[in-house]
Amino acid sequence: MVDRIPRAFDPQLFRADADVVLSILQSHLADPTVRGLQLHDPDALSKVARALMDPGDERVDSLIHSRLEAIVDLYVKTGIQVHSPGSMGRQFAGVVPLAGVIDFVCSVVNQPSSFYEAGQLPNVVERIMAEELGRLIGWAPGTFAMVTTSGGSLANLTALLAARNRRYPEFWDKGSPATATAHPGFRPAIAVGADAHYSVIRAAGIMGIGESHVVRLPLDDEGRVRVDSVRPALADARRRGLDVFCLVATTGTTSRGAFDPLGQLARIAREHGMWFHVDGAHGASLLVSHQLRPRAREVWEADSLVWDAHKMLFVPAPCTLLFYRREEDSRSAFRQEASYVFADRPDAHSLLDNGDRNFECTKRPMIMALWALWALYGRQFFAQKIERVCEVTEAAHDVLSREADFEVLHRPESNILCFRHRPARVRDEDVHDFQRNIRDHVRLRGKFFISKVDIDGVAALRVVVTNHDTTIEHFRMLLDEIRECGALVAAE
Ligand SMILES: *Cc1c(COP(=O)(O)O)cnc(C)c1O
Repeated sequence: MVDRIPRAFDPQLFRADADVVLSILQSHLADPTVRGLQLHDPDALSKVARALMDPGDERVDSLIHSRLEAIVDLYVKTGIQVHSPGSMGRQFAGVVPLAGVIDFVCSVVNQPSSFYEAGQLPNVVERIMAEELGRLIGWAPGTFAMVTTSGGSLANLTALLAARNRRYPEFWDKGSPATATAHPGFRPAIAVGADAHYSVIRAAGIMGIGESHVVRLPLDDEGRVRVDSVRPALADARRRGLDVFCLVATTGTTSRGAFDPLGQLARIAREHGMWFHVDGAHGASLLVSHQLRPRAREVWEADSLVWDAHKMLFVPAPCTLLFYRREEDSRSAFRQEASYVFADRPDAHSLLDNGDRNFECTKRPMIMALWALWALYGRQFFAQKIERVCEVTEAAHDVLSREADFEVLHRPESNILCFRHRPARVRDEDVHDFQRNIRDHVRLRGKFFISKVDIDGVAALRVVVTNHDTTIEHFRMLLDEIRECGALVAAE
């Protein structure tokens, strides 16, 4: 049997293999064609993938290079083309290529950790980025805390756990029945905007709150929580025997990119002694831009704030930052002893551990790509890119509002825009299915990638502009594509 170990660990071959990968990525990035996503049949794709697997023939060592090339090529070609202006469907595109290179370094040196000893630089730069971004939030250094988590969903769960444990200190130890005795007759509950991300509702399920104890707050026409609805909804919840311990607002909703009125909601939360959690996974990044920061400025009112850097800070996913306004609250989510990792005698090193504050034990050093870009290009780089994508989205809104066969559903507050194609021949009762079918056709044809979302129960088309080189001309091309797809759907 051939010993494969020397081949796999040879530094010179590593360099040669990496060069192959880099040239594929270079051509991929240089490809100017407008393209979105080509959906493949999973069985056919599976067949191609199987054909690339080790045939077990000992003479094929020389073929490793070409099979590597084929593997990377296949991966690149079958994905959403996030670097093309045709990709307008998801919040995570527009990634800065060099950030991927830093990610690659992280994988090769492999220091995944929540503990200082195994991730010295990541843990130190986490503290640096917390200071940089905390200043943008408006919090004084040394008073607040930040941890990184694997995605905004996990960050929402973590923050809600901290909120729950603060309200019911015995919950962690004794479980929910103890809560009933601490607050006789009342069930723990949270209140959220009707457009809150599904992970918030899921967190309620995971925490044993129960989905039926999520109070959903109605929205205005732009998709923001209606402030006048909140006090009545809370009074009603009280009458139903619910103890609402946390109010969740969103800054940049997933569906419409809407910004809740945080200042007013924070006041209500404080009046009621509730924790105020802000899900800024999408919108908190606007703080980086002088021009756009007024939309997110009031995030400083949050007790906890989720901020996804893998969305509008354009680093590889996942990279999520979870902030707590009060440093000590960051220790509320989890309360455990584990002698094999947690320091019983804290010192200058273990003070930087965060394993006790985040769910993960082994965690990617996700801050590295963000910090490297921040160090190399500065804050202004991020501001420029965010402003550029928001400007194009605004211009797209203006184009749409002049087109008789389109209905635009809101004024964009960030880079997300929802609309419907409504040619005269489509009856009202068919509008919902018509949008869904159009979206599927667009995806099948591969030139553009857009998403769909239900707004007031009726499907809509949704674009998220994340590439700075997406222009209004690309958007006009998209409208033509949608019209063509619409004609095909109508003909069926
Ligand atoms: C994307 C998003 C999330 C979920 O974050 P992930 O990083 O995808 O887990 C949560 N809330 C909002 C508002 C989002 O846009």
